[in-house]
Amino acid sequence: MVKCPECDAEVKIPEDSMEGEIVTCADCGASYELLKREKGFDIKPAQVVGEDWGQ
Ligand SMILES: [Zn+2]
Repeated sequence: MVKCPECDAEVKIPEDSMEGEIVTCADCGASYELLKREKGFDIKPAQVVGEDWGQ
């Protein structure tokens, strides 16, 4: 089971997910990209298109 780095809640990952899929934390709404590992999945923060970072 993967935990959300933002809020420490469990992020549910469907068993039939594929690498590169985006999952969203139900608790805080953060989006993560799936990375396939030997055992299950890891997550990394997804680049959210459309966010304006002040440029
Ligand atoms: Zn979260």
